[in-house]
Amino acid sequence: MKKILVTGGAGFLGSHLCERLVEAGHDVLCVDNYFTGSKLNIEHLLNRPNFEAMRHDVTFPLYVEVDQIYNLACPASPIHYQWDPVQTTKTSVQGAINMLGLAKRVKARVLQASTSEVYGDPEVHPQPESYWGRVNPIGFRSCYDEGKRCAETLFFDYWRQHQIEIKVMRIFNTYGPKMHPNDGRVVSNFIVQAIKNEPITIYGNGSQTRSFCYVDDLIEGMIRLMESPAEITGPINIGNPTEFTMLELASTVLKLSGSKSELIFKPLPEDDPKQRKPDIDLAKSTLNWAPNIQLEEGLSKTIAHFRKVLAASNHPAQ
Ligand code: NAD
Ligand code: UDP
Ligand code: UDP
Repeated sequence: MKKILVTGGAGFLGSHLCERLVEAGHDVLCVDNYFTGSKLNIEHLLNRPNFEAMRHDVTFPLYVEVDQIYNLACPASPIHYQWDPVQTTKTSVQGAINMLGLAKRVKARVLQASTSEVYGDPEVHPQPESYWGRVNPIGFRSCYDEGKRCAETLFFDYWRQHQIEIKVMRIFNTYGPKMHPNDGRVVSNFIVQAIKNEPITIYGNGSQTRSFCYVDDLIEGMIRLMESPAEITGPINIGNPTEFTMLELASTVLKLSGSKSELIFKPLPEDDPKQRKPDIDLAKSTLNWAPNIQLEEGLSKTIAHFRKVLAASNHPAQ
């Protein structure tokens, strides 16, 4: 059994990952500054002898002894990463430097939670790993996109210069239970609005596309990548290639939740990518991975989760 550090472990993806790793018997250290994550996401793990939570900001050095590092710390929702954009870039860049420095000292394998945002507003569709992307370096999304791109650069330079074992995973839009109800991302927004019979907020005309991966599929891909042979560094896309417009997503959420919500249209945020869909051939051939859970099944589970959370009075504020 390994000693495993998960940064951002109290967030949406991090808490699912911690759960999987604890169940597998590993010794898990969850590090989080609780900016967008919540102790509620990990409270069921706190009494497990092989789980430990530490409040820490990854922009500061961290001295611990571990075998593997999953570096997930970073707000993922546009409203949160744009709230303090300088801190977002610091988290991606200085956080990566610290985790790579730690990996170098203790000879740990380190996985970076990168993102489809490195492709920006893509002109190549679907996006293969070989596409270099189309990113605005000075816009509102740049703190996140360029921070993540620079983190990838650091990972490959530490690999070339210091022979660190790296794994770079490009995550496409993922959803599921434990997303924060006020997270601001489209799936949680639409589901919460539908359950409350409030208007569904479509940004722009709703013709932009995304490809949504259910969290269990994503975490399986993440663990397979971490456990893959050392020569597999990535970058590797992990996501569900089935593409939907935001109007299609809204109508599916309305149908599955039996909601009476109407649609309202709001301005499209700046630099909002028009289309996004992963090419997952590399994940299939190198990790033998492909998603199993399709949108209606995943949305139904997520709607059931949010019904419980919203019914249990108001969700505690962060
Ligand atoms: P999230 O916001 O739920 O989780 C991020 C976690 O990192 C939170 O618990 C937050 O408190 C913590 N954090 C933020 N800044 C920190 C800092 N400086 N020090 C320590 N902890 C810090 O988001 P998520 O969806 O779970 O995303 C996890 C990772 O996956 C992120 O790196 C994100 O960029 C990446 N990712 C997610 C998606 C997705 O669709 N969910 C897509 C692409 C990439
Ligand atoms: N670092 C860390 N934990 C460690 C080792 C290093 O947080 O166990 C940080 C350290 O503070 C440094 C960064 O990682 O700023 C990069 O470390 P590296 O050894 O690559 O660079 P250097 O220390 O030479 O600047
Ligand atoms: N979006 C929307 N209504 C919302 C929230 C988001 O129409 O209430 C749109 C958003 O403009 C984008 C897509 O849904 O085109 C996905 O947004 P999200 O913030 O979830 O992820 P990202 O843009 O980072 O892929």
